[in-house]
Amino acid sequence: MLTPKERERYSRQIQLLGIGEAGQNTLKNTTAVISGVGGLGGTVALYLAVAGVGKLILVRGGELRLDDLNRQILMTDDWVGKTRVTKAKETLIQINPDIEVEAIAAYITADNVDSLVQRSDIALSCAHNFPERTLLNAACVRWQKPMVEAAMNSMDAYLTTIVPGKTPCLSCLFPEMPDWDRRAFGVLGAVSGTLACLAALEAIKLITGLGQPLLGQLLNMDLAQAEFNKLRLYKDPNCPVCGGISHPVETAQQQHPVNV
Ligand SMILES: [Zn+2]
Repeated sequence: MLTPKERERYSRQIQLLGIGEAGQNTLKNTTAVISGVGGLGGTVALYLAVAGVGKLILVRGGELRLDDLNRQILMTDDWVGKTRVTKAKETLIQINPDIEVEAIAAYITADNVDSLVQRSDIALSCAHNFPERTLLNAACVRWQKPMVEAAMNSMDAYLTTIVPGKTPCLSCLFPEMPDWDRRAFGVLGAVSGTLACLAALEAIKLITGLGQPLLGQLLNMDLAQAEFNKLRLYKDPNCPVCGGISHPVETAQQQHPVNV
Protein backbone atom coordinates (compact mmCIF):
# COMPACT_ATOMS: atom_id res chain seq x y z
CA MET A 1 0.00 0.00 0.00
CA LEU A 2 1.13 3.53 -0.70
CA THR A 3 1.48 6.00 2.15
CA PRO A 4 -0.27 9.39 1.85
CA LYS A 5 3.14 10.95 1.21
CA GLU A 6 3.89 8.48 -1.60
CA ARG A 7 0.46 9.04 -3.09
CA GLU A 8 1.25 12.75 -3.27
CA ARG A 9 4.88 12.33 -4.42
CA TYR A 10 3.89 10.14 -7.36
CA SER A 11 0.48 11.68 -8.09
CA ARG A 12 1.50 13.04 -11.51
CA GLN A 13 2.53 9.61 -12.77
CA ILE A 14 -0.30 7.77 -10.99
CA GLN A 15 -2.54 9.80 -13.32
CA LEU A 16 -1.03 8.03 -16.31
CA LEU A 17 -3.07 5.35 -17.98
CA GLY A 18 -1.15 2.13 -17.48
CA ILE A 19 0.28 3.09 -14.09
CA GLY A 20 -2.47 4.12 -11.68
CA GLU A 21 -2.20 3.31 -7.99
CA ALA A 22 -1.81 -0.39 -8.70
CA GLY A 23 1.17 0.22 -10.98
CA GLN A 24 2.73 2.58 -8.45
CA ASN A 25 2.35 -0.08 -5.80
CA THR A 26 4.05 -2.59 -8.09
CA LEU A 27 6.92 -0.15 -8.59
CA LYS A 28 7.19 0.20 -4.81
CA ASN A 29 7.41 -3.56 -4.41
CA THR A 30 10.08 -3.94 -7.11
CA THR A 31 13.79 -4.49 -6.57
CA ALA A 32 16.03 -3.53 -9.49
CA VAL A 33 19.72 -4.36 -9.77
CA ILE A 34 21.79 -1.95 -11.83
CA SER A 35 25.20 -3.04 -13.04
CA GLY A 36 27.43 -0.09 -13.74
CA VAL A 37 26.65 3.23 -12.06
CA GLY A 38 28.31 5.64 -14.46
CA GLY A 39 26.84 8.13 -16.92
CA LEU A 40 24.37 5.48 -18.02
CA GLY A 41 23.60 3.39 -14.92
CA GLY A 42 23.69 6.35 -12.54
CA THR A 43 21.10 8.20 -14.60
CA VAL A 44 18.99 5.04 -14.89
CA ALA A 45 19.11 4.80 -11.08
CA LEU A 46 18.04 8.42 -10.75
CA TYR A 47 14.93 7.97 -12.89
CA LEU A 48 13.98 4.68 -11.23
CA ALA A 49 14.42 6.36 -7.84
CA VAL A 50 12.18 9.31 -8.62
CA ALA A 51 9.62 6.95 -10.17
CA GLY A 52 9.42 5.12 -6.84
CA VAL A 53 11.04 1.76 -7.57
CA GLY A 54 11.17 0.48 -4.01
CA LYS A 55 14.67 -0.90 -3.88
CA LEU A 56 17.72 -0.28 -6.03
CA ILE A 57 20.85 -2.40 -5.85
CA LEU A 58 23.78 -0.47 -7.33
CA VAL A 59 26.77 -2.57 -8.36
CA ARG A 60 29.90 -0.78 -9.42
CA GLY A 61 33.51 -0.90 -8.26
CA GLY A 62 36.03 1.91 -8.41
CA GLU A 63 36.48 5.50 -7.41
CA LEU A 64 35.19 8.69 -9.01
CA ARG A 65 37.54 10.44 -11.41
CA LEU A 66 37.42 14.04 -12.50
CA ASP A 67 36.78 13.00 -16.10
CA ASP A 68 33.60 11.13 -14.98
CA LEU A 69 31.90 14.37 -14.07
CA ASN A 70 30.77 15.35 -17.57
CA ARG A 71 28.10 12.64 -17.38
CA GLN A 72 27.80 11.12 -13.88
CA ILE A 73 25.09 13.37 -12.55
CA LEU A 74 24.75 11.74 -9.13
CA MET A 75 28.34 12.74 -8.35
CA THR A 76 29.81 16.00 -7.07
CA ASP A 77 33.21 17.65 -7.58
CA ASP A 78 34.27 17.08 -3.97
CA TRP A 79 33.83 13.32 -4.34
CA VAL A 80 36.71 12.72 -6.78
CA GLY A 81 38.88 9.87 -5.54
CA LYS A 82 36.11 8.36 -3.40
CA THR A 83 33.87 5.33 -3.98
CA ARG A 84 31.25 6.06 -6.64
CA VAL A 85 28.37 3.90 -5.44
CA THR A 86 28.49 5.40 -1.95
CA LYS A 87 27.88 8.86 -3.38
CA ALA A 88 25.24 7.53 -5.78
CA LYS A 89 23.32 6.09 -2.84
CA GLU A 90 23.66 9.31 -0.84
CA THR A 91 22.35 11.46 -3.71
CA LEU A 92 19.44 9.15 -4.49
CA ILE A 93 18.31 9.01 -0.86
CA GLN A 94 18.48 12.80 -0.62
CA ILE A 95 16.20 13.02 -3.65
CA ASN A 96 13.84 10.26 -2.57
CA PRO A 97 14.14 9.06 1.03
CA ASP A 98 11.12 6.78 0.58
CA ILE A 99 13.11 4.18 -1.36
CA GLU A 100 15.86 1.81 -0.29
CA VAL A 101 19.25 1.86 -1.99
CA GLU A 102 21.93 -0.76 -1.51
CA ALA A 103 25.40 0.20 -2.72
CA ILE A 104 27.80 -2.59 -3.61
CA ALA A 105 31.31 -1.34 -4.39
CA ALA A 106 32.22 -4.25 -6.64
CA TYR A 107 31.89 -5.40 -10.21
CA ILE A 108 29.58 -8.16 -11.42
CA THR A 109 31.43 -11.47 -11.14
CA ALA A 110 30.58 -15.14 -11.52
CA ASP A 111 30.60 -15.32 -7.71
CA ASN A 112 28.11 -12.54 -6.96
CA VAL A 113 25.84 -12.44 -10.01
CA ASP A 114 23.42 -15.20 -9.06
CA SER A 115 22.61 -13.84 -5.61
CA LEU A 116 22.19 -10.33 -7.04
CA VAL A 117 19.77 -11.50 -9.71
CA GLN A 118 17.89 -13.87 -7.41
CA ARG A 119 16.95 -11.09 -5.02
CA SER A 120 15.95 -8.71 -7.81
CA ASP A 121 12.85 -8.53 -9.97
CA ILE A 122 14.56 -6.83 -12.91
CA ALA A 123 18.13 -6.11 -14.00
CA LEU A 124 19.51 -3.11 -15.86
CA SER A 125 22.64 -3.88 -17.82
CA CYS A 126 24.69 -0.69 -17.86
CA ALA A 127 28.22 -1.94 -17.22
CA HIS A 128 31.08 -0.49 -19.22
CA ASN A 129 32.40 -3.90 -20.26
CA PHE A 130 30.97 -6.88 -22.04
CA PRO A 131 32.06 -9.65 -19.62
CA GLU A 132 29.86 -8.14 -16.88
CA ARG A 133 26.99 -7.89 -19.33
CA THR A 134 27.26 -11.52 -20.41
CA LEU A 135 27.40 -12.69 -16.78
CA LEU A 136 24.28 -10.69 -15.95
CA ASN A 137 22.48 -11.93 -19.06
CA ALA A 138 23.22 -15.58 -18.29
CA ALA A 139 22.08 -15.19 -14.67
CA CYS A 140 18.87 -13.47 -15.78
CA VAL A 141 18.17 -16.39 -18.13
CA ARG A 142 18.94 -18.89 -15.34
CA TRP A 143 16.62 -17.19 -12.88
CA GLN A 144 14.02 -16.07 -15.46
CA LYS A 145 14.36 -12.38 -14.68
CA PRO A 146 13.93 -9.63 -17.27
CA MET A 147 16.90 -7.48 -18.23
CA VAL A 148 17.05 -4.11 -19.94
CA GLU A 149 20.18 -4.01 -22.08
CA ALA A 150 21.50 -0.50 -22.84
CA ALA A 151 24.85 0.28 -24.38
CA MET A 152 26.56 3.13 -26.16
CA ASN A 153 29.68 3.99 -28.05
CA SER A 154 30.45 7.64 -28.72
CA MET A 155 27.29 9.07 -30.31
CA ASP A 156 25.68 5.69 -31.01
CA ALA A 157 23.45 3.82 -28.59
CA TYR A 158 21.30 0.73 -28.55
CA LEU A 159 18.57 -0.59 -26.30
CA THR A 160 16.51 -3.74 -25.98
CA THR A 161 14.51 -5.53 -23.31
CA ILE A 162 15.16 -9.20 -22.71
CA VAL A 163 12.55 -11.49 -21.17
CA PRO A 164 13.94 -15.03 -20.82
CA GLY A 165 11.79 -17.60 -22.59
CA LYS A 166 10.08 -14.91 -24.63
CA THR A 167 12.74 -12.84 -26.39
CA PRO A 168 16.26 -13.37 -27.70
CA CYS A 169 18.93 -12.93 -25.03
CA LEU A 170 22.12 -10.90 -25.19
CA SER A 171 24.13 -13.89 -26.38
CA CYS A 172 21.68 -14.36 -29.28
CA LEU A 173 22.50 -10.78 -30.29
CA PHE A 174 26.23 -11.08 -29.76
CA PRO A 175 27.45 -14.67 -30.08
CA GLU A 176 30.97 -13.19 -30.02
CA MET A 177 32.08 -10.40 -27.70
CA PRO A 178 31.90 -7.15 -29.67
CA ASP A 179 34.97 -4.97 -29.94
CA TRP A 180 33.43 -1.94 -28.24
CA ASP A 181 34.62 -3.30 -24.93
CA ARG A 182 36.61 -0.28 -23.89
CA ARG A 183 36.07 2.61 -21.53
CA ALA A 184 37.93 5.51 -23.03
CA PHE A 185 35.63 6.37 -25.93
CA GLY A 186 34.40 9.92 -26.27
CA VAL A 187 31.07 10.52 -24.61
CA LEU A 188 28.67 13.35 -23.93
CA GLY A 189 26.55 13.32 -20.81
CA ALA A 190 23.50 14.20 -22.88
CA VAL A 191 24.03 11.01 -24.91
CA SER A 192 24.42 8.65 -21.94
CA GLY A 193 21.53 10.49 -20.28
CA THR A 194 19.26 10.08 -23.30
CA LEU A 195 19.92 6.35 -23.40
CA ALA A 196 19.51 6.12 -19.61
CA CYS A 197 16.07 7.77 -19.70
CA LEU A 198 14.93 5.32 -22.37
CA ALA A 199 16.34 2.37 -20.39
CA ALA A 200 14.60 3.51 -17.19
CA LEU A 201 11.39 3.89 -19.18
CA GLU A 202 11.75 0.32 -20.49
CA ALA A 203 12.01 -0.93 -16.90
CA ILE A 204 9.01 1.12 -15.77
CA LYS A 205 6.96 -0.16 -18.72
CA LEU A 206 7.90 -3.74 -17.99
CA ILE A 207 7.11 -3.41 -14.27
CA THR A 208 3.80 -1.59 -14.63
CA GLY A 209 2.48 -2.80 -17.98
CA LEU A 210 2.47 0.76 -19.33
CA GLY A 211 2.93 0.96 -23.11
CA GLN A 212 4.92 -1.54 -25.11
CA PRO A 213 8.51 -2.43 -24.16
CA LEU A 214 11.16 -3.27 -26.76
CA LEU A 215 10.60 -7.03 -26.60
CA GLY A 216 12.55 -8.81 -29.32
CA GLN A 217 13.43 -5.47 -30.86
CA LEU A 218 16.64 -3.48 -30.84
CA LEU A 219 16.36 0.30 -30.85
CA ASN A 220 19.40 1.77 -32.57
CA MET A 221 20.17 5.43 -32.10
CA ASP A 222 22.61 7.60 -33.99
CA LEU A 223 22.40 10.66 -31.79
CA ALA A 224 24.82 12.65 -33.91
CA GLN A 225 22.28 12.59 -36.72
CA ALA A 226 19.16 12.13 -34.54
CA GLU A 227 18.35 8.95 -36.45
CA PHE A 228 16.47 6.14 -34.76
CA ASN A 229 15.51 2.74 -36.11
CA LYS A 230 14.26 -0.53 -34.71
CA LEU A 231 15.42 -3.97 -35.76
CA ARG A 232 13.57 -7.18 -35.07
CA LEU A 233 15.88 -9.60 -33.31
CA TYR A 234 16.50 -13.25 -34.03
CA LYS A 235 16.40 -15.82 -31.25
CA ASP A 236 19.13 -18.34 -31.84
CA PRO A 237 17.67 -21.81 -31.15
CA ASN A 238 21.23 -23.00 -30.54
CA CYS A 239 22.17 -20.12 -28.24
CA PRO A 240 24.43 -21.54 -25.51
CA VAL A 241 22.70 -19.36 -22.92
CA CYS A 242 18.97 -19.45 -23.75
CA GLY A 243 18.77 -22.09 -26.48
CA GLY A 244 17.27 -24.71 -24.18
CA ILE A 245 14.35 -22.51 -23.18
CA SER A 246 11.20 -22.98 -25.21
CA HIS A 247 9.03 -20.02 -26.05
CA PRO A 248 6.31 -19.12 -28.51
CA VAL A 249 8.23 -18.12 -31.62
CA GLU A 250 7.13 -14.78 -32.90
CA THR A 251 7.74 -13.58 -36.42
CA ALA A 252 11.43 -13.23 -35.77
CA GLN A 253 13.61 -12.39 -38.70
CA GLN A 254 17.16 -11.32 -38.17
CA GLN A 255 17.68 -7.59 -38.50
CA HIS A 256 14.37 -6.99 -40.20
CA PRO A 257 13.55 -3.31 -39.85
CA VAL A 258 10.20 -2.48 -38.27
CA ASN A 259 8.42 0.80 -38.08
CA VAL A 260 9.49 3.13 -35.31
ZN1 LIG B 1 20.16 -16.46 -26.31
